[in-house]
Formats: sequence, C-alpha cells, structure tokens
Amino acid sequence: MPAHLFASPEVPVERAAVRDALRLLDLHAAAQKLDPALGVEALALTPDLHRASPAPVGTALRTRGVLTPHLIGNDLGCGMRLHLTGLRADDLRPHLDVLERELRAVFFQGQRALSLTGRQREALLRGGVPDLLAAPRPAGQRGLWDLLGAQAHQPDPHAPFVRGPLHGVRDWLGDRDRASFDTQLGSVGGGNHFVEVQEVAAVLDRHAAYAWGVRPGEVVVMVHSGSLGFGHLFGAQLRAPARAAPGAPLPLLPADHPGVPGVLDALHAAAHLASGNRLMLACMVRAALGRALPPGLLAQDQPFPALADAPHNFIWPGGDGDWVHRKGATPAAGPSVRHPHGEPVLIPGSMGDLSYLLAGQGHPLALGSASHGAGRRQPRGAAMRQSDAEALRALEALRVVTPTDLRTARSEIRARALSALKQEAPGAYKAVTPIIDTHARAGLARPVAALRPLLTVKS
Ligand code: 5GP
Ligand code: MN
Ligand code: MN
Repeated sequence: MPAHLFASPEVPVERAAVRDALRLLDLHAAAQKLDPALGVEALALTPDLHRASPAPVGTALRTRGVLTPHLIGNDLGCGMRLHLTGLRADDLRPHLDVLERELRAVFFQGQRALSLTGRQREALLRGGVPDLLAAPRPAGQRGLWDLLGAQAHQPDPHAPFVRGPLHGVRDWLGDRDRASFDTQLGSVGGGNHFVEVQEVAAVLDRHAAYAWGVRPGEVVVMVHSGSLGFGHLFGAQLRAPARAAPGAPLPLLPADHPGVPGVLDALHAAAHLASGNRLMLACMVRAALGRALPPGLLAQDQPFPALADAPHNFIWPGGDGDWVHRKGATPAAGPSVRHPHGEPVLIPGSMGDLSYLLAGQGHPLALGSASHGAGRRQPRGAAMRQSDAEALRALEALRVVTPTDLRTARSEIRARALSALKQEAPGAYKAVTPIIDTHARAGLARPVAALRPLLTVKS
C-alpha cells in the first residue's frame, strides 16, 4: 500500500515522526487478520509533519471497511475558519487600540453574552451551524444573534461534514454538561487555538481571489478552535467500540459493526459544536469591530461571509466503503462544481508570521489533503526555556490580546502568563512560507492570498 511524504529540503522533517507514521501501516495486517476485506489503502504525510500522540500531526490515512477512531486525537472537529469583512485594513489601523480593548472585554472580561435554548443547543449538535440558525429563536435573544442570523443568508461552507439527524445527542449531555455548554461556547480554548484579525497582504492567484471575493488590503478574521471540553465527552463515545487487534498500533472498528452509527454521531456532534464555536468567535470579533470603529466605516448590514471552515481532526467517508482519517491535516479537494477553483484551504503560520489562503488541488497521493499549519519547531518544553526578556521583546512587537495584559500586570502574574505564551510565540513555530512553497511545488494546493496578522487573541 502506498505511503507518501510531501517534503522539501527547505523543511526538515523529524525522522521520529516519519517512523511513528509508518507504524500506522501495521494496521493493514491487523485488519486483514480480522477480515481479509479490511485494510489500509494509503498513507499520506503533509509537509508540516511532526510528532504527536497517538499519531503525528500531518497524517492522512485511507482505510477500507474499517475505522480507527483513536487516530484523530482528542480535539475532535478542531478546525480553521475564515471570514471576509469588506473592511479596509487602512481604515482599521488607527482604531486597533480600541479594538484590542473591546476584544479583551468580550473574550476575557465576562462580556460574552451567549445563551442557547435547549432546542438551539440540540440543533447545533445534530446539524451544525445551518440547523442552529434555522432553530426557533426566542423573542428578545439579541446581540450576537443578530450577527449569527445574518449568516443564514451566506453560503454554507461546512456542508461537506454535516450529518444528521444524530440519534444519541439528547442522552449524551447530562444536566451538568448542559449547564457548562453556554459557558464554554464562545471561548477560544487553550494554547494553540486563536482568533486573529488579519489583513490580505498579497493576492497570489488573482482569479481565485476574485471569485472568492478576497481583495488586497481587506481585513479578514481567522479562527482556530476545537470542540472545547465536549470533545472529550464525545471522544469517549467515539472510541468505545473500537478493539485492540493483535499487532495493531491503534484499536480498530470494522465499519459494519453495530456501534458505528453511534461513533459517527459522536464525531459529527463534536465537529458541529467546534464549527459552531468558530462561528461564535468570529461573530464576537465582528461585533467588537462594529463597536470599535467610528460610524460609517463598517455598516451594520455589511456581509460577513465565511469563506472556509474545515475540521482537521476528523474522519470522512471516502466512497466505495473507504474512510479518510485526517489528524492535523486539512481537506484540499481539487476543482468541483461547488468550488471551481479548488477547495479553499487555510494554513496559518503564527502570531508573528504570515498565514495563507490556498486553493486545493486534490492531489490523489496526498489523499486530497494539505497541512493545517506551519507546525511546531520545537517541543513545548524547549520553547519554555526562552528567557522572559527575549519572549517579551518578541511579543511587544506584536498585538496579542490575552487574559492578562502583559503591559500592566503585576510581575508574578505576568511571569505565569509569559510562560504559557512562550509556547505560542513566533519562535515556537516553523516558518510558514517554505511549507506553502512545498504545497505549491508538490501540487497539493495553490497559494491564493497571504494574510498578515493585525491582532491575535490567545487564551
Ligand atoms: P494545531 O495546534 O491544531 O496542530 O496547529 C495549529 C497551527 O496553527 C500551528 O501549526 C501553527 O502554524 C498555527 N498557529 C498557532 N498559533 C497561531 C497564532 O496565534 N496565529 C496564527 N496565525 N497561527 C497560529
Ligand atoms: Mn485543537
Ligand atoms: Mn487544531
């Protein structure tokens, strides 16, 4: 069975990560022992490949007649999303201080005004954002809902992973879970997750950019978030029926097992929740922009379309009884009726680097996949050893909104915040541009626009 690594001399790949990934091929023999009709069809490793548990980030695995739910990790449905604002970065720049204050208030100072009814919560889990927006909205539920409502008229970028109705949803959430749902919804999540206001720094493919409505100098909002605490809840359900097979590096689950519909329900509920959370986060930024800008710069009814939203920890049906697992890798399908220029693909860099919007090319040997980030340069521990002064210098050059305001916090609080932020500072991640060049040269995805951060929200 074929295994392909997409790499280039400019992007060193850890040998250990390749070795870990190749071990996944042992799933084939193990599946065959269960049933000769089952097996692994292909493995593809994306240019940002790096070590992680239980499988490297940057893995795509195509299987026949069998699932391996553990492969995709804990943060089910974690993904990236991008919205266009129609606002010019030059118009926003003079107001970034105000925006920063608005964002700190809305994200970290208890001004999140989110509250779903039971029916809305269930609609979100069952059918994702489209169902949430179609669910009855109680009179008087305002604020973000005015913005969310506007989304109903936008094209739905997440249709490829919507699945419903999901059968178990009502039973999965106990009273306590339901109570914590609204508290968690609209939060960024830890560490590597972020919300970023960016500027289109360069258009690299004029035709695709024009078709997608992406203009040079425009402000866009990128969101990276997962299924929060609920991913773990649904993850237990996802992994339960899979069984350890002799010689297999991960438990296996034949696709005709009676537990599979429940597994897929759990996976989709988590992905719907994660995508809904990304929408909420984006809308929180949109609302903050509205408050931060002087009247006339951003009309209330200015469209805020989502250009892309895709999970990177997920399992997709691959046709003919095949399944495509992606762990820290994003779908990058080639041109289709829906996406004549190719599927929009997001590859962020870091808070101090460019991020990119690309058009997927559906490379068959990559299993139609691309990287979902630049990838870590160093293990988390190494980033922590950077000196505080060095880290502060790097961060001062950027505009980062965190729960702690580094400029005003007391020294011991600042030190604690810094030690977490060091793992997210630009030095913790690889340079993204060589990763993008690798995608372009290998025919995985074509760069459409380079995006530069104006402001990053990290918790
Ligand atoms: P994950 O943590 O899901 O494996 O990958 C997230 C990717 O997002 C990383 O590989 C990194 O390139 C990127 N990233 C992490 N933090 C930030 C940030 O604050 N801003 C941007 N633009 N990208 C980030
Ligand atoms: Mn995540
Ligand atoms: Mn992620």
